Amino acid sequence: MQLVVPDHDSSDSDSIRKVGIRAVKARKRDQDRDEQPRPWHHFRLPRPSVRPEFYDSDNSDSEDDLPKRHRIAHRTTATETKEPQNSIPTSVEQHLLEGGRHPPAVPHSCSYCAAITVDVRRQLAKVTYRGDAWGRKGWTTGYRKLPLTVAGAKVAGRNGCAFYAYLVAEDDPAYSVRNEIWGSTVGRIPYEVRMQDSRCGLALGRRKGEFREFSLYSVPGQKTLHEFLGNQLPPNLVPNSQLSFINIRGWLSECRQKHSLCNSFQRAYMPKRLIEVTRAPGSDTIHSRLVTKPPLAPYAALSYCWGGDQKSKTVKSVLAAYEKEIAMSTLPQTLQDALAVTDGVGLRYLWVDAMAIVQDDDDDKDEQISQMHRIYLGASFTIVAAKAVTSLDGFLAPREKYQPTIISARLDDNAFGEILAVPKPDTHDDYNLFTRGWTFQETQLSTRILAYGSRELVYTCLEAKHRDGGYEHVFHSSSQSLYYDDSGDDPAAQMTRHLDPGNQQVGHAEHPLGWGTIVSKYSKRFLTDGLDKLPAISAIAEEYSLTKRVTEYYAGLWKEDFLQQCLWEVSFNTARRPKEVYRAPSWSWASVDGAVDGAVNVLARPYGEVTEEQVGVKCSCSLLHVETTLVSTRNRFGRVSGGFMRLRGRMRKVLWSSTGIRAGHAGRAAEDPASKWPEEPYGFDSRLNLTVDDVTEWPRDMEVEFWCVEFCTFFRDGFDRGRGLLLERANGQEYHNLSGEIFRRVGVAGFGSNVAHPYWFDDGVSEWREIVVV
Ligand SMILES: [Zn+2]
Ligand SMILES: [Zn+2]
Repeated sequence: MQLVVPDHDSSDSDSIRKVGIRAVKARKRDQDRDEQPRPWHHFRLPRPSVRPEFYDSDNSDSEDDLPKRHRIAHRTTATETKEPQNSIPTSVEQHLLEGGRHPPAVPHSCSYCAAITVDVRRQLAKVTYRGDAWGRKGWTTGYRKLPLTVAGAKVAGRNGCAFYAYLVAEDDPAYSVRNEIWGSTVGRIPYEVRMQDSRCGLALGRRKGEFREFSLYSVPGQKTLHEFLGNQLPPNLVPNSQLSFINIRGWLSECRQKHSLCNSFQRAYMPKRLIEVTRAPGSDTIHSRLVTKPPLAPYAALSYCWGGDQKSKTVKSVLAAYEKEIAMSTLPQTLQDALAVTDGVGLRYLWVDAMAIVQDDDDDKDEQISQMHRIYLGASFTIVAAKAVTSLDGFLAPREKYQPTIISARLDDNAFGEILAVPKPDTHDDYNLFTRGWTFQETQLSTRILAYGSRELVYTCLEAKHRDGGYEHVFHSSSQSLYYDDSGDDPAAQMTRHLDPGNQQVGHAEHPLGWGTIVSKYSKRFLTDGLDKLPAISAIAEEYSLTKRVTEYYAGLWKEDFLQQCLWEVSFNTARRPKEVYRAPSWSWASVDGAVDGAVNVLARPYGEVTEEQVGVKCSCSLLHVETTLVSTRNRFGRVSGGFMRLRGRMRKVLWSSTGIRAGHAGRAAEDPASKWPEEPYGFDSRLNLTVDDVTEWPRDMEVEFWCVEFCTFFRDGFDRGRGLLLERANGQEYHNLSGEIFRRVGVAGFGSNVAHPYWFDDGVSEWREIVVV
């Protein structure tokens, strides 16, 4: 594995690390001294977990002073009592000492749910988990009954019971509908406790065929489910709390002190412009302003979805004003929250694209975008607003949707205790950011990531993963089962699959497969503006050029192993090749929208276990010339305004049609009558496998004339085979400055032979030609 070599001397990186640690320590001292409550420290800790105190007194005070979004829905029936600001119960301190993790926000409890006793006796386990087909280890207690019927649950919900309200809520998108047989829910509500791979769940029938699930946890300080969950704590529901920031500081300093991979990946760099965040000692108010060319210091970066045009962004006309002060209230919530995190963990600077780049200055834009890889590589950490769909959403609001309920549990024949039931997360909540094109390189090039999901915060660096509560276990267990990825219903674990700090998972394969894998992952993401296709991956390209033996870059393809990279293939018949605005030559994957498999490896290595000698991959095509025209010379990995390649290869004409069940994949040689292949529907030649990039370019049921050009040949399974491109003759007048026959790519092609017929190109009608592909 080739690691990134730092391009600065070690004293720089040492000093940046020391500055970071000093800043954190200084800030911590400030906070220890500071006795004033701050608006974002509204989190009230529960008292030690003795049941009556949870519902006989309420720990909240002065909620009316808080903005509405900072309230967490909890107690509904209890009387209000005041509690001193900074009294941290011993059990919580103990938890912080043990793992630096969180107790939950004040759990719900009321007379309705107090009547429930969930039976989690292991000796009830008579059946293994139904999902055993995947090799999961698990068991269930079988069905038991709650005290209430569904009708009773609706009444309880209306009367303020959060547990029953969630169970019967109709409008909650998170509720699960599963095709499981729950029998009749006439009568008392059936439930089942499920234990599986160190996770506990409570499934409750809603109505016939439907159930809703809670995740179960031990109450902090009790060891009720310890046997199954170990030290796992419930999710932290107040991400904007001092305790949250203490956790984060712990993870960051552990990484800075102990992780050599992470520290060698990060580079010393200071972006041209940053938001500076300051706060007078003892003051609640954060001040922010834009600074240009600040001295080398640790900074955070933000990765988020714009979700439309931004009202607050730096343009030439406001630059001077922003350099004096940026009023916090004018910033969208996601930026305000990112500044709160920056300040909360003790940093002074934050990089946000909308603010750090002058949006109406093309020169500044080009310059900054060409520095993107340095900006993310240089950041101490990147804040990922995974949950926020637009910049107005924010990510630090209390996670009210996951209000826990404290419930009695029967642990053994004579042992009772309490457990926490937390609504099961909706796994689709945290995906938005990971479908967006620009955010791909932002997370790939970060050393440390703080990803704020809808239920949990995930920290990940090159060497560690943490979360602020939830099933920590799931991060480590996926490799135990060959067939079942148990992160399936755990959004935090799924989130980490999209987060690849240090580009470890995809970037370390050898070229060209490493690049192909990057292209494959990137191509699944969407861009608002298709013209960003090349710019939004330019930072990764730049980083790749520094760490791999590659030289020239042509619209998303490297000079090295160029022809092999041209064999990218659309994954399904869903790709489209937009024509309105020129984006890239047709041989570049950047010319299509949609998932692309870029790691086609036929030229580099054989399939399966066949050795290279047996396969004998021979390149049969010569690349004579390739060139592209850059829109801006500032970024050689950026947009292009034109390009072509000149090749000499063996060619043969085919007829393709989108008819029939093998639409998009079949065709026949142009000179062959359809009747030549009676065994094939529509008379297709079974030796051909054509994959057209965008099948909507031609009408259905019409045969179109294309050309095949052979790139390579090999021998496999007793037959001669080959790969190449599918081309269409281009309108020569548009390319009058290019001499020769001009084609454009419309797809890729596989060629073969069979028992009765020779290799397709050996039928005797192919010809060698020199052509241009635009
Ligand atoms: Zn209740
Ligand atoms: Zn680390």
